[in-house]
Amino acid sequence: MEEIRMRARAKINLTLDVTGKREDGYHLLRMVMQNVALYDDVMIRRRQEAGIVLTSNLPWLPCDERNLAWRAARLMQEEFGLTEGVEIHIQKRIPVAAGLAGGSTDCAAVLVGMKRLFGLRVSQKKLEELGLRLGADVPYCIRRGTVLAEGIGEILTDINPQCPPFFVVLAKPNVSVSTKSVYQKLKLDEIRNHPDTEGMLAAIVAQDHQAICKKMGNVLENVTIPDYPIIAALKERLLELGAENAMMSGSGPTVFGLFLDEKQAKKAAKKVQREFSLKEVVTTRTFCPARSGQKRKERGKQYGETDNCIK
Ligand code: ATP
Repeated sequence: MEEIRMRARAKINLTLDVTGKREDGYHLLRMVMQNVALYDDVMIRRRQEAGIVLTSNLPWLPCDERNLAWRAARLMQEEFGLTEGVEIHIQKRIPVAAGLAGGSTDCAAVLVGMKRLFGLRVSQKKLEELGLRLGADVPYCIRRGTVLAEGIGEILTDINPQCPPFFVVLAKPNVSVSTKSVYQKLKLDEIRNHPDTEGMLAAIVAQDHQAICKKMGNVLENVTIPDYPIIAALKERLLELGAENAMMSGSGPTVFGLFLDEKQAKKAAKKVQREFSLKEVVTTRTFCPARSGQKRKERGKQYGETDNCIK
């Protein structure tokens, strides 16, 4: 195989809870993660000369070791003693620095893609361990689908059945939020509104759309909403426009609304884009890759998708 094309999907958090802090400063998390269909194209090609050449459609995105996809390629070369180089092109569609794990999912796509391209014998578990060295969301981005992530993001439990289908409006306010500073500002002992993670898991297993929407919660909103009131305003507007519920994803600033009706979702997306003069608004849907034991055809029927996330 000379080249491989991967679809690196974005994620949203249905719940995000912080349960403590480790001695080394890392926060302990409990989050229900969910992919959406929106993806970056990640193309990886072998090249005879050593090294890594990375390009993307965004001229301002770093293409060197500051890019997580570049770091993933180097880690694979080092770990498996690869002498050949790689050329990587990323066609970005996922908004950057948005709370949608854009960098982490490109990173995961390179780890999985290089495993396939070079025919490496490496288990998914080992790949997830390698991913954790590059970022807390990377193991999830390798696993994909509806997953409970715990620890610092490395303890993953697949939820079965996965989240039932929703249409999703992703609306990114035109502000930059630093993930690091959000976690630094979080005052754990003052948080009263921890999400009901168990309730969310039960709602997903029961495939109960209304209960899933009721159980959504993200403790990081306690930090970001006072600083960026537009996040609260966007949530409120999406609810008025027919969202079953709306919440910030990850450390923000993207707000997502869950809808049962596609037309309503598209209409709401147009309205918030105009009213808030937003540069980045996307209408997509939840995405669940086939799990082992589940026939692809069955999953395709349920989610209206037949391709795999990372192929
Ligand atoms: P998370 O949800 O995992 O916190 P995020 O969606 O908030 O991630 P990213 O899109 O990953 O944020 O971008 C965060 C920073 O990472 C940006 O400042 C960007 O320059 C850098 N970065 C490195 N590699 C990538 C990549 N492949 N795609 C996007 N951003 C990248």
